[in-house]
Amino acid sequence: MDIRSRSGLRPVINVSGTMTSLGASIVGEPVIEAVAQILPQFVEIDDLQKKASTAIAAACGSESGYVTASCSAAITLCIAATMTGDDHGLIEQLPDTTGLRNEVVIQTGHLVNYGAPIDQAIRLAGARVVTVGAATEAHGYQLATAITERTTAALYVVSHHTVQFGMITLEEFIAVAHGKGVPVIVDAASEYDLKRFIEAGADLVLYSAHKFLGGLTAGIVAGTKARVRAAYFQNGGIGRGMKVGKEGIVGAIAALEAWQTRDHVAIRARERGYLTLWREALNRFAGVWAQLDPDPTGNPLDRLKLHIDPQEARITAWDLADALARPQRGGAPVIVRDHEAELHFFFLDPCNLHPGEEQTVLARIVDELEHARSAPQPIVTPFHQRDARHVAGRRNWPD
Ligand SMILES: *Cc1c(COP(=O)(O)O)cnc(C)c1O
Repeated sequence: MDIRSRSGLRPVINVSGTMTSLGASIVGEPVIEAVAQILPQFVEIDDLQKKASTAIAAACGSESGYVTASCSAAITLCIAATMTGDDHGLIEQLPDTTGLRNEVVIQTGHLVNYGAPIDQAIRLAGARVVTVGAATEAHGYQLATAITERTTAALYVVSHHTVQFGMITLEEFIAVAHGKGVPVIVDAASEYDLKRFIEAGADLVLYSAHKFLGGLTAGIVAGTKARVRAAYFQNGGIGRGMKVGKEGIVGAIAALEAWQTRDHVAIRARERGYLTLWREALNRFAGVWAQLDPDPTGNPLDRLKLHIDPQEARITAWDLADALARPQRGGAPVIVRDHEAELHFFFLDPCNLHPGEEQTVLARIVDELEHARSAPQPIVTPFHQRDARHVAGRRNWPD
C-alpha cells in the first residue's frame, strides 16, 4: 500500500510543477540507490564536498562547486561569501556587517517569492537590498548608478516568476556589474541549462537539486574557486543552520550524473503525448480553450494552458482548480498550476507524473467540467473570497 494512504495522507497527483509544498519532484532510482548506500556509512564531509565540486564543475563548466541545503540557502551563503571572503573572523561576525560592503543590487522585477521573499534570503546574511528600476522596467544606467563602494554583489534571478519583459538582460547586467568590479550571482533554481550562466560570465550560479534534477532537497552552487570556497566556509558561520547532510550531497552528485545520461528526447516526447491527449479532449468542452505553452524562460518544456470562460463553462478557472484539489465525488486530488488563476486560466505541467496518471488527470477534469455543466447554478466564487479562504485554510495548522 502507498505510504501516503497508510499514513492517512492524500495521494495527490502533481500537475503543477516542482513544488516544495508538494514534495518537490520524483526522485529517480539511481539517486535513491546512491542515497540508500551512504545513509548507514560515515564519510568525511570535506572530501565528499570535494567530489561534489568535481561533479558540479563537470556539469556546469565551472571551476568549482558545493552542495548546500537549498537554493534559497545558497543565495544567503553566496551573498555572505562576497562580504567576508574566506576570513573566518568575518564569517563568524555575520550577520553583523560592520566594516563590510553590504549592499546587494537586484532589479525590482526580480523580487520574486518562491515560498518566501527572495529579499529576505539576502537580508538573512546581514546584507541590505538595493532595488534597481521599476517593477516592469529597468536599464543598465540605473544599475550603474545603484552600484557604489558599498555594493558587495549583484543578484540576477532567472525564473518564470520574474517580470518577463523590460528587464536588463543577463549579458548587460554582468557587463555593468563587472565594469564596476562587483561579482554577479545568478539564481537559476529551476533552469535546465547548467552551463549557460557560467558561460555568460556569472561568478556564482545557483540551482535547486530537487527540481528538474530530481535529487534530494539541496542547493547547488557553481562558480569560481575562491568564491565557492568562501561560500562553503559559511558552514562555520550563518550556514550552520542551513547545513546539508551526506544524503543531500550524495543525492545531488547522483542527480547530476543521472542528468547527463537521461533520455531527454524520450521524456519530452512522453510529455508531449500527455499534453496532446489533454488538449484534444478538453478543447471539446464549451468555454474551454487549451493550448500548448512553452516555458517562459526557455527550458525545454511545454505546459498546457487551460483558459476557462466562466460564462460558457459555468465554472471559473479557480473554482475548477479548487474542485480538482478537493474532490467532492471521489477520485484522486489533482493539484494544477494555478498561480495566475484570476486571469481565467491555469496550467497542467506534465513533468512530475507517473505513467497512467495522465489518464486520471484527464478523467478528473472531465468529471468536474461535466458536473459544472449540469449544476443548477454556475460555480463562481468571487476571487478575493477564494484567496481569503486559501490564506485562512492554513492559519490553524496543525489543526
Ligand atoms: C525554487 C526557487 C528558489 C528556491 O529554491 P529552493 O532550493 O527550494 O530553496 C529560489 N529561486 C527561484 C527562482 C526558485 O524558483
